[in-house]
Amino acid sequence: MCHWGPVREGESRCVRSTECVDRKRLHESMAIRLKFWGVRGSIACATPQHMKYGGNTSCIEVEAGDYRFVMDAGTGIRPFGNAFLQSGTKCSHLLLTHTHWDHINGFPFFVPAYNPECAIHIMAGHLKSRGDEGIQDILSTQMHNPMFPVPLEAMQAKLRFEDFDAGDSFSLPSDITVKTAALNHPNGATGYRIEHDGSSICYITDTEHVPGQMDENILGLIEGADLVIYDSTYTEEEFPAKVGWGHSTWNEGMRLCQAAGVKRHAIFHHDPEHDDAFMDKLAVEAEAAWEGNFVSREGMELIIE
Ligand SMILES: [Zn+2]
Ligand SMILES: [Zn+2]
Repeated sequence: MCHWGPVREGESRCVRSTECVDRKRLHESMAIRLKFWGVRGSIACATPQHMKYGGNTSCIEVEAGDYRFVMDAGTGIRPFGNAFLQSGTKCSHLLLTHTHWDHINGFPFFVPAYNPECAIHIMAGHLKSRGDEGIQDILSTQMHNPMFPVPLEAMQAKLRFEDFDAGDSFSLPSDITVKTAALNHPNGATGYRIEHDGSSICYITDTEHVPGQMDENILGLIEGADLVIYDSTYTEEEFPAKVGWGHSTWNEGMRLCQAAGVKRHAIFHHDPEHDDAFMDKLAVEAEAAWEGNFVSREGMELIIE
């Protein structure tokens, strides 16, 4: 079940803000906590016109039971990594949707990966079936001289790299179940469904829809979920000029959520051209269209229980 509180300026959209989350209670309950550390698509945009919704690229922290992990390593993973270390946590997973820059280029700045006391299990589902280099090779290439001065080998955490096939399911510690599906994106991408004691959230980015034809892979994955975070890069007006670019619209996210009986839909992967004024207008329009819609913002924290 999903409890949602009123939106207050500078606070989380749902339920309780971080300050009032009782962590012990969270660990003993069925709740899933998540925090948006980066909601932007394509490239980080740190201008004063992007501060309300945030300029960092894709990164979402998830906590369920007593396990805490992260999805995507966009530039938002840098501040997440600092918070993660401060909390004293040592062990985590990094689940990647794919390896376009906006989802991996925070990784070289993910401080826990340099800490020999940490163990990070990095997983990706879009490379194995393509016969390409695996996820370790891709992250290593990103850090090659002369693009970056510090090689992957300088990371002293116990790093485990694993490629799987989108469509596989697996478990994480603390009775967390992860289901996956392939998305429609250039070079491939993986959608995730995270389940814990009857609560469920889905992370569906980056993906392109075919107008008038709902994606069966996505419908199957998100069926009945409490929350779906969806690639809403373009408006319906912008979409026709961007066919083939691999992204979707909030309207399509809403249609998928409504068809699959999903409770709430987080509009995500905002286009850098969509500044705060643009996103404010979009939020009004989306919330008027369906009460389940809301626009994700950097720093927003949700509890699903
Ligand atoms: Zn992206
Ligand atoms: Zn992409």
